[in-house]
Amino acid sequence: MTRGHRAGPSPALPAAALPDAYRDPGLVAALAARVRETAAALAAPVKLMHICGTHEHALGRYALRELLPPDLELLAGPGCPVCVCDSALIDAAIRLASTPGITLASFGDMLAVPGSLPLRGEARGDVRMSLLDARARGGDVRTVYSVFDAARLAAAAPARQVVFFSVGFETTVVATAALLRRDPPPNLTILEANYYTPPATALLPTLPGFDVQGLLLPGHATAVTGTGVYRELPRAGVACAVTGFEPADMLAGVLALLRQLHKGRLRVENVYGRVVADAGNERALADLDAVFQPVSRRWRGIADIPGSGFELRSAHRWRSARERFPDAFVESGERASEHAAGCRCADVTLGLTRPDACPLFAARCTPDSPYGPCMVSHEGTCRAWHQYGMARGPIAVRTSSTEVGRGPL
Ligand code: SF4
Repeated sequence: MTRGHRAGPSPALPAAALPDAYRDPGLVAALAARVRETAAALAAPVKLMHICGTHEHALGRYALRELLPPDLELLAGPGCPVCVCDSALIDAAIRLASTPGITLASFGDMLAVPGSLPLRGEARGDVRMSLLDARARGGDVRTVYSVFDAARLAAAAPARQVVFFSVGFETTVVATAALLRRDPPPNLTILEANYYTPPATALLPTLPGFDVQGLLLPGHATAVTGTGVYRELPRAGVACAVTGFEPADMLAGVLALLRQLHKGRLRVENVYGRVVADAGNERALADLDAVFQPVSRRWRGIADIPGSGFELRSAHRWRSARERFPDAFVESGERASEHAAGCRCADVTLGLTRPDACPLFAARCTPDSPYGPCMVSHEGTCRAWHQYGMARGPIAVRTSSTEVGRGPL
């Protein structure tokens, strides 16, 4: 157990591990009723936030916001690594993929994300290049499901250089660390683009006008780090609950936050105890610490956040794509602003606005023709709202100071 933080009981959740148990309509209805009762007892509007793209998808897929009382807002925060990936890193990945002799191995949801390099020859003048465009122009871009796939590509083609575009939060960087400790083929290098959520989460309460009272914390990332990394948030006045991704998990997390607010005792509560140990995954953390060290990283359109990224330690730096192919990281001077004109991804990512407040949403910006990263990735908030039609639902979402929309478009 993490010092100073009690693991809370999982409200009303059964011990069964099968997902169906956590989608049981009776259980979900009972939890929703308790959420409404507890929110009513607070007798004041409540604003909560999650910081995980998978949570946003669960909200859309199961229409969970419709079960919440009108005075309870549940916003989406910075929970999509694809959405915050520095456009300069995407540009570097495009240059690498366009270099003869190099194979760029990437997760599929990075392929359509525009960087900042202009795409020449398009009728629409504001199109920026993505890895898909690099592939269409002859670049060797392969889709992989993990760094282990990239290692297999490297083993199968020893005469080529394989660069793994390591985009993700702490959940994915631990896999990269584990692989590098197993001595993969020497022609495999890493494009370091991993992000660490706790420093960004710690920044939230310091933002002007931030009035979120409680955070749902991502169960998968916390399974790696443990709950202690969030210990400063309650001290900053933010209730916290680590939770999972099924409907009952989500509602149990919301209920835990409301109970903390009702009692006035804020803490980091673990309602995902069937997966998350308060100490985290010690073996994964040992791998991570042996291979990577914290570094300041740019969150696209938001800020450079100290300690929010990972870079290879000196013993592993020869595996860094930045070290082996420095020319790909030299900016060409063509780089544009981080987001396309009119794109409000930065505000969406911080929970300061809702996707359908963006004038491009569902009009010029769609999953087939995305302007910003939030519409590309399956973890992106705009993509989730588009996919599940949430913009047409009776959802009230306010910015820090004013309501920006309600009901149909
Ligand atoms: Fe950016 Fe498109 Fe979302 Fe608008 S709808 S914020 S352009 S991704």
